[in-house]
Amino acid sequence: MTIDFKKQQAVAGLEQLATLVRAQSWRQDGTPSLPPTQSAVLRMLDGAAVPLRATQIAERLGISAASLSDSLKALDAKGWLIRTADPADKRASLLGVTEAGREIVTRLNDPQQGIAALMNGLNEQDVGALLRVTQLLVREAQQKGLATGPRTCLGCRFFRPGEGNQPGKPHFCAFVQQPFGDSELRVDCAEQQPADEKYAGESVLRFRQMNSQ
Ligand code: SF4
Repeated sequence: MTIDFKKQQAVAGLEQLATLVRAQSWRQDGTPSLPPTQSAVLRMLDGAAVPLRATQIAERLGISAASLSDSLKALDAKGWLIRTADPADKRASLLGVTEAGREIVTRLNDPQQGIAALMNGLNEQDVGALLRVTQLLVREAQQKGLATGPRTCLGCRFFRPGEGNQPGKPHFCAFVQQPFGDSELRVDCAEQQPADEKYAGESVLRFRQMNSQ
């Protein structure tokens, strides 16, 4: 099966951006060059309300336990992880991030550096368009078994696409009972609860229909 020229261009663009992220060679602020999995783990642990098990991290990132294990070892060696005993399972430990690790996350999130700097040139409509496409790509990845963990609006049982009924806020979140716009779509929401397959499929249909209206 082949894809058409337009999609080939989209693929080329995404691959170029992914290469840019991997290389991180354009960071000028001295922040260590981190492989994407390591920075994703640090960001996740920094943003988590409670320490997480390795299995939860691997599931959210959609990677194997073995791949995660290498990243955890590397982060441990840098002194950026805290491990505590899991009271619910003597064989498992809970993972958090040290102060030094938090400093790295702050630098990774610096809006003047790294991929965050690329966002400065986008307006709200652009960000909304990017988040819409991201929702759909994550959904495709989930359906192909490439990712199970991302906690997107499109995969959430509280998501009501098209029910916002306010200018610029076409969606509704039944968890916080608020309408919201494309630029507020979440890719990693702590309150997300996965929708069942039937509901998720219907959400995708409604979400796509809104785009073609
Ligand atoms: S709970 Fe979070 S993921 Fe779910 S619809 Fe609301 S904002 Fe989106």
